Formats: sequence, structure tokens, C-alpha cells
Amino acid sequence: MASPVGRRLRDGPPVVVILVGPPGVGKGTQGGLLAEATGSRHIATGDLLRAAMRDGIDLGREAQEFMSRGELVPDQLMVGLVRDVVEKMDRDVGAVLDGFPRTVGQAEALEGVLFELDRKADLVVVLEADDDVIVKRMAGRRSCGQCGAVYNVHCSRPKQDGICDQCGGVLTLRPDDDPVTVRNRIEVFRRETTPLIGYFDESPTPVHRVQADQSVADVQCALWEVVGG
Ligand code: ADP
Repeated sequence: MASPVGRRLRDGPPVVVILVGPPGVGKGTQGGLLAEATGSRHIATGDLLRAAMRDGIDLGREAQEFMSRGELVPDQLMVGLVRDVVEKMDRDVGAVLDGFPRTVGQAEALEGVLFELDRKADLVVVLEADDDVIVKRMAGRRSCGQCGAVYNVHCSRPKQDGICDQCGGVLTLRPDDDPVTVRNRIEVFRRETTPLIGYFDESPTPVHRVQADQSVADVQCALWEVVGG
């Protein structure tokens, strides 16, 4: 049966969906697909930070040292970034938030920003997978240094090895995807973001859990069942 949020995502007023989950669980892939299917804006904070680094702006320079160690970028920087993006959004457009909030502090700040705009988070989806699945996936992930497109040597290879289908850029392992940094990112997730899930469980916002150690298509179906009926 279609969930109320699912009906609204397609036909009704715009809604805000928050995707939470460990690094490499597929938030980016599924967030992109969900945003496309629903005409929502996909707001991926990792992508915004990497774009800021490529553009050489202050935020990118400040974030770089934290990202390269697999640590979280301080809340103050992240909240400023997301506030900017959300405030500029058309009121008629929904949002899929991917990678934000990641801490309870960020969630509280987001609630404030949305409240000022007379909006709220409508649904939280937690994507779940075991650590060894994540480490394997991330070792296979390749990203385009030029446009940020993402591939995987296990399941979504580019047409030509090492070359981006979209812009012809060179594909590399993201510096923070090396196995040691990945382990640290998973630890940071368990330490900093697990309390966030508890926070949402206690909040009035509905929380759904989706098993993400399946194929992209299967996760997409499971996610759509939760949000899109
Ligand atoms: P993943 O979800 O696979 O870790 P992302 O591309 O979302 O990948 O994030 C990469 C890095 O960007 C994180 O390890 C962290 O350093 C930084 N980052 C992204 N979003 C946030 C956030 N909301 N708060 C703090 N740091 C963030």
C-alpha cells in the first residue's frame, strides 16, 4: 500500500527525506535515483564539499584536512553550508538529504532552518549494511576527479576502464576510500551518527530501515516501497 509520504512525493506538496547510513552504503546512488524519480533536489553534502575543494573556496580548504582523515567536518561549517542550500531552494521542490545531518547537533540545526522556512523533515530512511560489505564496495569505488561521477569496478563499470562516461575525466580511488581511512569513517559513523538514529527514533518524524546489502535495483525497490508505495 502506498505510504502517505510516497503519495506526497509524487503528487502532493514537496517533502524532505533524510537518508542516513554508514559510508559506502549507497546513500549517494539511491539518493540520486530517488530525487530523479520524484523531481526532488538531491543534496549530498560530501559532493558539495568536494566541489568546494575543487573550486578552491575557503570552505573546501577548511574541510579538506578533516575529510582526508575520515573525520567529520565541524558542525558549524556544515550547518552554514546546508542552510545556504536549503534557503535557496524553491518552496515547490522537495529534497533528498544525503549525508546530512550526521550528528545530533546538525539535526537540531536543520530542524531550526526548516522551521524558519515553514518546512520540516517528513521521513528518515536508515540504509543498513555490514562493515565487510562496505569495505569491499568502497575498495571498488572509482570517482571522476573532474565531474564527481561515481562508478564501481564490481557492479557499475565505465564503458572504458578508468575513464568517465560522462566527461572523459580520469577515474581514481577517492583519497578517503583507501581501506584504512574507510575503517576510520565506519568507526566515526558508529560513534557520531548512531546517536542520531536514536534521536530520530524518539522524534515525531517516521523512521524506516532498509537493508542495503542487495543490488542497486533491489535496494531501489525496497526504498520505493517505503517512500513511494
Ligand atoms: P560517505 O557517506 O560515503 O562517507 P560522503 O561523500 O557523504 O561519503 O562524505 C565524505 C566526507 O565528507 C565524510 O567522511 C566527512 O569528512 C565529510 N562530510 C560529509 N557530510 C558531512 C556532514 N554532514 N558532517 C560532517 N562531515 C561531513
